[in-house]
Amino acid sequence: MNGKSDKTKIKSMTFEELEAFVESLGEKKFRAKQVFEWMHKGVRSFEEMTNLPKAFREKLAEAADLEALETETLQVSKKDGTRKYLFRLPDGQFVESVLMKYSYGNTVCISTQAGCRMGCAFCASCEGGLIRNLTAGEILDQVLAVSRDMGRKVDHVVVMGVGEPFDNYENLSRFLANIHDPRGFGMSFRSITVSTCGILPGIERFADEFPQVTLAISLHAPNAQIRGRLMPVDRTYPYEKLLETARKYVKKTNKRITFEYILIDGVNDSPQQAEELAGTLKGILCHINLIPFNEVLGRGFSSARPERVRRFQEVLQKNGYEATVRRELGSDIDGACGQLRAKKI
Ligand code: SAH
Repeated sequence: MNGKSDKTKIKSMTFEELEAFVESLGEKKFRAKQVFEWMHKGVRSFEEMTNLPKAFREKLAEAADLEALETETLQVSKKDGTRKYLFRLPDGQFVESVLMKYSYGNTVCISTQAGCRMGCAFCASCEGGLIRNLTAGEILDQVLAVSRDMGRKVDHVVVMGVGEPFDNYENLSRFLANIHDPRGFGMSFRSITVSTCGILPGIERFADEFPQVTLAISLHAPNAQIRGRLMPVDRTYPYEKLLETARKYVKKTNKRITFEYILIDGVNDSPQQAEELAGTLKGILCHINLIPFNEVLGRGFSSARPERVRRFQEVLQKNGYEATVRRELGSDIDGACGQLRAKKI
């Protein structure tokens, strides 16, 4: 048995679709609200939906799939309490999610694909290529499973785990609509950040459809030449166009963009490159998040030295940018940025 199911995946449905589904089972519409509420509380079986008539629960169990992920392993960092979950999907694939504790609340970093096809030179997530897209329910269940495990709702979500969110746009947008729905989990859009490697049609659509969600763009280079070496996506969506799209995004949404910039020793971490970056981003309302490169074996890269990271940050700040250095969490459990994979090792 591969665990695959032909049953209706109700955690991937919008509220309205769920209502129609409940009616198709011969039940009153209002039952959908109860099911929706239970699902977003993270219950793992229809049994647990105790205010539903037993006959309806049985009907649901026969027709519907709750897409509840199984926790294969859980690692807890001794350094900072970061928790890395390896979840097993119904078809035997794996995804990872990471729970980080900050002074302002808990943040869960979730995955949108098993594997990734973007092929960034510095990242471990693409090692086996793209295996498949996650369903909206599988994306959502990472948040629900972690909340359940913590005994309380997580406060923030960052879509920065394995996969490229805009390469799975439909399911991502269903997930966002569902987690935001006040009839369920009710997370505010402002508590969510989605990070893209720079899929331009995705950014444009996102500006229209989810203007309140924070957008992060993985830039990683002060110019097209360096970006092209690090990120194959630059061939399809070139640097200049990316910056143009970022400008349009800010104009349309009035929101600040976060640019992520990994600092790799001797590749993109010099003070001159910081000056160049400052010039490149001129006029774009943004926040720059510097990420010291995390070790990924066999890529031939190493992390920028701490004094270079500080210097890079200073140059940007001197130029009037808000630039922060991302705290490295969970590195002892390979849970830091770029270290997540889609397999069990
Ligand atoms: N595909 C999306 C989201 C996942 S990556 C994107 O590219 O934005 C989350 C962040 O971690 C990205 O900024 C990514 O470039 C960065 N990252 C990847 N590998 C890394 C590494 N080895 N060290 C530090 N950050 C890394």
